[in-house]
Amino acid sequence: MTPNEVRAKYLAFFKERGHAEIPSAPLVPENDPTTLFTSSGMQPLVPYLLGQKHPAGVRLVDSQKSVRTGDIDDIGDNRHLTFFEMLGNWSLGDYFKQEQLPWVFEFLTTELGLDPTKLYVTVFAGDESLGIPVDEEAIGLWKKLFADIGIDAQAVVLGSEEEGAAVGMQGGRIFAYDAKKNWWSRSGAPSNMPTGEPGGPDSEVFYDFGTEHDPTWGEHCHPNCDCGRFLEIGNSVFMEYIKKEDGSFEKLKQRNVDFGGGLERLAAATLGTDDVYVTGTLNTIIKKLEEWSGKLYSDMQYQKAFRVVADHLRAATFLISDGVRPGNVERGYVVRRLLRRAVRYSDVLGVPAGNLKGLVAPIAADYADSYSNIIEQQAVIEAEVGGEEERFRKTLERGMKELARFANNGELSAQDAFQLFTTYGFPIELIAEEAGARGIKQVDMEGFKELLKQHQDLSRAGSEQKFKGGLADNSEATVRLHTAHHLLLKALQQVLGPHVHQRGSNITAERLRIDFSHGEKMTPEQKTEVECIVNEKIKEDLVVVRTEMAKEEAEKLGAEHEFGAKYPECVSVYSIGPLEQAFSIEFCGGPHVEHTAEIAQAGVFKIQKEEAVAQGVRRIKAVLE
Ligand SMILES: [Zn+2]
Ligand SMILES: [Zn+2]
Repeated sequence: MTPNEVRAKYLAFFKERGHAEIPSAPLVPENDPTTLFTSSGMQPLVPYLLGQKHPAGVRLVDSQKSVRTGDIDDIGDNRHLTFFEMLGNWSLGDYFKQEQLPWVFEFLTTELGLDPTKLYVTVFAGDESLGIPVDEEAIGLWKKLFADIGIDAQAVVLGSEEEGAAVGMQGGRIFAYDAKKNWWSRSGAPSNMPTGEPGGPDSEVFYDFGTEHDPTWGEHCHPNCDCGRFLEIGNSVFMEYIKKEDGSFEKLKQRNVDFGGGLERLAAATLGTDDVYVTGTLNTIIKKLEEWSGKLYSDMQYQKAFRVVADHLRAATFLISDGVRPGNVERGYVVRRLLRRAVRYSDVLGVPAGNLKGLVAPIAADYADSYSNIIEQQAVIEAEVGGEEERFRKTLERGMKELARFANNGELSAQDAFQLFTTYGFPIELIAEEAGARGIKQVDMEGFKELLKQHQDLSRAGSEQKFKGGLADNSEATVRLHTAHHLLLKALQQVLGPHVHQRGSNITAERLRIDFSHGEKMTPEQKTEVECIVNEKIKEDLVVVRTEMAKEEAEKLGAEHEFGAKYPECVSVYSIGPLEQAFSIEFCGGPHVEHTAEIAQAGVFKIQKEEAVAQGVRRIKAVLE
């Protein structure tokens, strides 16, 4: 089946069972400048899972467009995609496990016709320390579903992934894993959840391709093994618990179900293949590339290049159709990177220059029924793709000249290679290749990797902080450290000078980390002085105020913002102390404590470590203890 057919069957199946179909939310979340892209089916529905009434009712079904940018550089295997669709059905306080698991099983085996002997399932193994038992109910339901079609499904408790690799499957079909694998909450495992946070166990379905286990992943195979034998094709989350103040859990009044199934993976399973690239649109693109290049997808030497071009072109097409344009920052930069990598890999295949925009038409045609905004904007998308390819080729040309200049010295330093990489977007393999062709014997690859790592750490820390809607985890401990983080930045400026600005940041419940611009190591006196200022401001019990204002106005007030970040016209600003006489003002999404004295409940502010992370950038780790 094609993904289009699987999507149609899924929506029809759940509509027959009383679900209202809701349209996919756009890839760029509306009114939310702190989230890069919609990255799962659940994300747009979180408010309704937490109790808000959904206008379409208590049973919903959808296919949500999603983009994940975490591992763009890793694209090229058989299952990971930058853009994908997530099928979802939702019970908002309505039906629960007894309906959901039989429906999932019926859909997979009857509607999609998957061979039930190839299906393996997982459930939550429970956590004694939290008083949450193993999910016997799910085990019982799965046993019955398999028994009804003559399969004797045994349950095996594996616990952790490591344990699974050590003991293997032992003839089981239903496997219980710990919270790392079979528990969902916004803040992860039960122990990380703040008071009042809902969460619950989940139950995944895996498809067994029957390939041989690769022992580099562990001694034995099991459903969560990464060797490629098993592919996860769907997950039902049962949101049924809420965390209490004393750390224990009780059952929620409104119990929800949230199912997520990767559309391309399901389509691949119906074809009996573990390669999502042979399905639907991706396959169409690859056929076109084969025609243009004379190369074959089945040729292992070129398979990765085919996959990268197909994945990136489709993702860029969807992002442009949702309003993103190639550019140098944030969302625009993602599209630029996708298109430039597509150009590079199309060169590897030998696709003639200027052809990539010709892929937009087949993509638009394939999605005409589900996402008509692509076909409506086809001309715009083609112009953006074509324009970006042209700009990139000009940049490449300049970069080649630069490389030739470096080459005169007979060697290429890590710094030179890194400059080519950052300024011209040259992939390092290309740099090495071109350097070799110009008689340069050696490129300092180790040095390059080190520079790249520093660069990635910095930009990751920066974007994590900004794009997670402020903080990933809103526990009290993390929120206190966040406010302390603002105090620390200001104190650093007072002690070291106004050249200090934030270059990256990361906050957990245990500690805060800040990267900031400063050329030399801090003296012990400077560290003590900074600590004193922060602790003083905590004691003064300053009020913490959030204000929304025009970006211009905030800049006039001298609000701190992160280097290189782009902000919307209307911004959220946090001041410590009233706005007119604030100690610190920062562009920030929060959350924060209301008064600085609340920070003192966790202890005294202390700098644990101060070190260099890159040229001119220092890092501080600090705690409340
Ligand atoms: Zn395996
Ligand atoms: Zn902040």
